Amino acid sequence: MQDTCQVTEPVTVAGKSASLQTIGVVGAGQMGNGIAQVMAHHAGLSVVVQDVNSAALEKASTTIEKSLSKFVEKAQITAEQKSEILGRIRFETTLEALKDADLVVEAIVENEAVKKEIFQMLDGLTKPTAILASNTSSISITRLAAATQRPGQVIGMHFMNPVPLMKLVEIIRGAQTTDATYAVVADLTARLDKTGVVSRDFPGFISNRVLMPLINEAIFTLYEGIGSAEDIDTVLKLGMNHPMGPLTLADFIGLDTCLAIMNVLHDGFQDPRFRPCPLLKQYVDAGYLGRKSGRGFFSYS
Ligand code: NAD
Repeated sequence: MQDTCQVTEPVTVAGKSASLQTIGVVGAGQMGNGIAQVMAHHAGLSVVVQDVNSAALEKASTTIEKSLSKFVEKAQITAEQKSEILGRIRFETTLEALKDADLVVEAIVENEAVKKEIFQMLDGLTKPTAILASNTSSISITRLAAATQRPGQVIGMHFMNPVPLMKLVEIIRGAQTTDATYAVVADLTARLDKTGVVSRDFPGFISNRVLMPLINEAIFTLYEGIGSAEDIDTVLKLGMNHPMGPLTLADFIGLDTCLAIMNVLHDGFQDPRFRPCPLLKQYVDAGYLGRKSGRGFFSYS
C-alpha cells in the first residue's frame, strides 16, 4: 500500500510560536472556554472568545472563573495571577472581533457545513498571516482548509475534555498544512504544558478512530439489553482499568458530538462497522445530549 509507513521529517519547533500575541476562539462551549483558559493561563496570551449565543459567553466566563479558583485553592496559582489571567480574556458576539488574532481555534458544533462557513468568514476577515485551527474531533482538516485561500495555514488542534486538566493535544496536518504552520502549533502546544501528537488527516484521526467505536459498541451493548448502563461502565472501569466508563464518557463528551463523529467515520470509510447505534440517534433526537443537557445515559441534576 502506498505511503502507509511514511515517516514525517522532523520539524524544528522550539520558539516558533513567539510571534503569537492574540488568540481567537470561536465557540464558547465546553471546549472553547477551556481552550481560552489555557491560552491565557499557560501561554500568557490575550484571548478573544466569540460565540453567537451571549448566554454561552456568560456561562464560559463563569466556568473559567470557577476553574481558576480551583487552581488558587490548590495553591497552583495566586489570586493575583487568577485576576491577571481573567484580564487577558475578552468575550464577544461578533466574528469581526477576531480580526487582529494571530491564531484562531474554532470550537463550534461538529458539523462540516457550519465549520466551513466559519472558516470562509475567518479567511476573509483575519490577517493574511493568521493561522486557522479547528478543534474538530473528526472532520477533514483538508476540506476545511479548501474553504479558505490559505490552506497551508489551516491545521487541526484537537484538545481533550476537560481542556485545563487533560495533557494531550492531537495535531492534525491537512494535505496542504505547511511545516511552518505545524511548527507554530507544536511549539504553542508545548507552551500550554501539553503533549502534542501528530495525526494524518483521516476520519476521526487517531483518538476518535479508536475511542468512538468503543463508545458506540458500549451503546449497542446497552441497546441489545446485554447489560445495564451501570454494569457496562463498571466492566470497563474495574475490568479494564478505564478511569471512566464508556457511557459516562459519552455523556461527558455530548451525545450529539458522539453521533456526529460516528457519522463522519461511517461516511468517510464507508464501512458498516462504523454505523452509529440507533439508540444513540434516538437519544439525540430526544434532546438527551448527556451532561450538558442534564440527561444522557445517566441523569445529572
Ligand atoms: P458545545 O455544544 O459545548 O459548544 C459549541 C458552542 O459553539 C456553543 O456555545 C454554540 O453557541 C457555539 N456556536 C455554534 N455555532 C456557532 C457559530 N456559527 N459561531 C459561533 N459560535 C457558534 O460543543 P463542544 O463540546 O465544546 O464541542 C465543540 C467542538 O469541539 C466540536 O467540534 C467537537 O467535536 C470538539 N470536541 C469536543 C470534545 C468534547 O468532549 N465535547 C472533545 C474534543 C473536541
